[in-house]
Amino acid sequence: MNPELLLSRIRVVLCRPSHPGNIGAAARAMKTMGLSDLRLVAPRAFPDPEADARATGAVDLLERAKIHDTLHEALAGSVLAIALSARHRDLGPPLGQPREMAAELLAHARHGEVALVFGNETVGLSNEEIQCCQAAVTIPANPAFSSLNLGAAVQVLCYELRVAAYSGLPPAHDPLVTPFSSPLATHDEVEGLYGHLESVMTETGFLNPAQPGRLMPKLRRLFGRARLEKDEVNILRGILAATRVRTGHGR
Ligand code: SAH
Repeated sequence: MNPELLLSRIRVVLCRPSHPGNIGAAARAMKTMGLSDLRLVAPRAFPDPEADARATGAVDLLERAKIHDTLHEALAGSVLAIALSARHRDLGPPLGQPREMAAELLAHARHGEVALVFGNETVGLSNEEIQCCQAAVTIPANPAFSSLNLGAAVQVLCYELRVAAYSGLPPAHDPLVTPFSSPLATHDEVEGLYGHLESVMTETGFLNPAQPGRLMPKLRRLFGRARLEKDEVNILRGILAATRVRTGHGR
């Protein structure tokens, strides 16, 4: 598939950025590598002259940037989201290397829109934000000083994506080459499944909302690893609907 088309399907999502200068730096990092879809979740200050100044020739990306209230909104319609995290999280999705994850993202970009999700400069990504993603990446760095500037972290990943997209190599592994496969489920379809699962587990008494423990994060990690297809989401939701009827909650 055309590398330019693949790169155009990659969203760069900045969650709650506090410094408009970093938004500009991210736009410049993206444009130099051929990416263009910038998404901002609840930016503290945007638009802002500091963002324009740091973007220099990439102001067009800032003008086209979409602003969202929540990460769910920014991921709507996408088929894979990868979180960027400087720190390991106990309940987070499986952690990979930038090169390996760039290949994975491009393999999925053949089938739909995909996203890289970056955190706030001071606090990084929240656990909730990380759990919206199916995989995570840490840029290997000096263990004594491992937190890159936000714009620099965006640059590293965009560079890896460009190198991978133009390498001419076939995708690392195509998620949809098995017989009987259906299109990948989108973020919103998978979130619909989680909501459905949570309510049926609550109704059946399997999940106690007062003491939820780690059940939902663990299930998110399980299904995140599976990279669910539309048909699979429909089957699982069909089973849940049938369970509801049996337990009397569906009426
Ligand atoms: N102090 C924060 C780091 C914030 S840096 C923390 O401890 O999480 C802002 C964002 O840049 C991070 O949320 C992450 O998305 C990205 N980032 C910075 N350094 C990174 C690294 N070494 N690996 C992966 N992402 C990194």
